[in-house]
Amino acid sequence: MTNFDLDPHRRLNILTGDWVLVSPHRTQRPWQGQTENINIGTRPAHDPNCYLCSGNERAGGVKNPSYESTFSFDNDFAALLPDTLDSESNVNDLLVSHIESGVCRVICFSPRHDLTLAEMSVSEIRKVVDLWQEEYLKLGSDDSINYVQIFENKGAVMGCSNPHPHGQVWAQRSIPCEPNRELRRMRQHFNKNDSPILIDYLELEMSLKERIVYTNKSFAALVPFWATWPFEVMVLPKRQISNLTEMEDQEKTELADVLRAVTAKYDNLFQTSFPYSSGIHQAPTDGMDYPDCTFHMHFYPPLLRSSTVKKFMVGYEMLGGPQRDITPEYSAGVLRELPDIHFKNDKICNSESL
Ligand code: ZN
Repeated sequence: MTNFDLDPHRRLNILTGDWVLVSPHRTQRPWQGQTENINIGTRPAHDPNCYLCSGNERAGGVKNPSYESTFSFDNDFAALLPDTLDSESNVNDLLVSHIESGVCRVICFSPRHDLTLAEMSVSEIRKVVDLWQEEYLKLGSDDSINYVQIFENKGAVMGCSNPHPHGQVWAQRSIPCEPNRELRRMRQHFNKNDSPILIDYLELEMSLKERIVYTNKSFAALVPFWATWPFEVMVLPKRQISNLTEMEDQEKTELADVLRAVTAKYDNLFQTSFPYSSGIHQAPTDGMDYPDCTFHMHFYPPLLRSSTVKKFMVGYEMLGGPQRDITPEYSAGVLRELPDIHFKNDKICNSESL
């Protein structure tokens, strides 16, 4: 008899085709880490030295407007440049390169330097969702832009140097590797089953309930069966939506609600400002139809046991493949039981209702 709660086993990531090694037997008691209340400190609502705060000067002397909710601008140190000439180079199929063009944008979530999504209200996060939609639409309508990657890097441990709540949008000619792998798997499943893989997957998860973290009318947050990071979360819509522009008004508010709940639970887990990289995967903007591609968000947080103990992807992970000890079911249970009201902020969240 196999026992997936105790025996080492491999799980298939249906979105990428990769396998993750799960070793639950390595944790005799699954939760061994102590929770530490570290001093999370306070930041000013406006920092005169922050290049993202309203009214402040950025690199090159550009001044931010006195914005009151969200604000986006072209990254002053963009990784991609627009209007570069398309050209390829290939030496014996051994040295292959291709000029890439695109646009990098920065999105400020709030003028408040001291907030994060976790402490913002549903109506404030809704404005971020609206801006994501606007950027996707505007950038994607350019013929030379075929994919719009929206993401957030939060926390110094993720290499984010500025704590001001912000994310980024990189829009480019080619479809980047991660969404491209997922799109291939989505297409395969759709051709075989005539339904989107993530809609089928969510239906199964909603019936099993063991990996669900939070749900509202339109969205669910869960720890994927194949999660690599200890507290990895995926946000999925309950109906087929291939991109942000297909969302109804109420759905955008409910996406804001699920983002609030997930990020608040994350902060509550170790009573800290929980670091992560998160991002949206959705349909490319290459003019094709994507009935097989379901809009979704990934949250990849590095913390393992406390606010100061993170999981390192080294050794076997670098040379073999991803591995984890605590099971996704265990992580989902912990996150599900945590309140979705932020530990610092319960009055604001309580006053919001859908
Ligand atoms: Zn994805």
